[in-house]
Amino acid sequence: MFVLLRQLQRIRSECALPRPARRGSLQLRHVDAGSCNGCEHELQAASGPAYDLARFGLSITASPRHADVLLVTGAVTTRMRGALEIAYAAMPEPRRVAALGDCALGCGLLGDPSQIAGRVEEILPVDLRIPGCPPDPETIARHLRELLAR
Ligand code: SF4
Repeated sequence: MFVLLRQLQRIRSECALPRPARRGSLQLRHVDAGSCNGCEHELQAASGPAYDLARFGLSITASPRHADVLLVTGAVTTRMRGALEIAYAAMPEPRRVAALGDCALGCGLLGDPSQIAGRVEEILPVDLRIPGCPPDPETIARHLRELLAR
């Protein structure tokens, strides 16, 4: 048991990103606007014990009313456009939008164009772009920490 705990501690310290000098926190509301779930998988890994976004003051909230950042994955489908706009409208000011993954950035990897409303930037003002298909957890954590430092 103790051997396992020590190994877990070692793995965490090897994977860990450096702690930010600046204090503060951001609540993230994630919306899947039409992804293949690859970006969600990496986002979940970034929130897990190895990268542990919560350590840096970045946590995912269930309600847009408690969120500072709307984190959008996937190309925005026509069916999700309304939900995305409602979530953004429910957020308190100052609010920010982060587009996670190449689909959200408009690289057009998924879907029939007639079912895609557009890239996130065409629908909401985007403050942070996280490229990759999908971006790896370290890239996600690094970009979100940059947003925290702004
Ligand atoms: S960027 Fe890649 S992993 Fe992310 S939703 Fe698009 S196809 Fe899937």
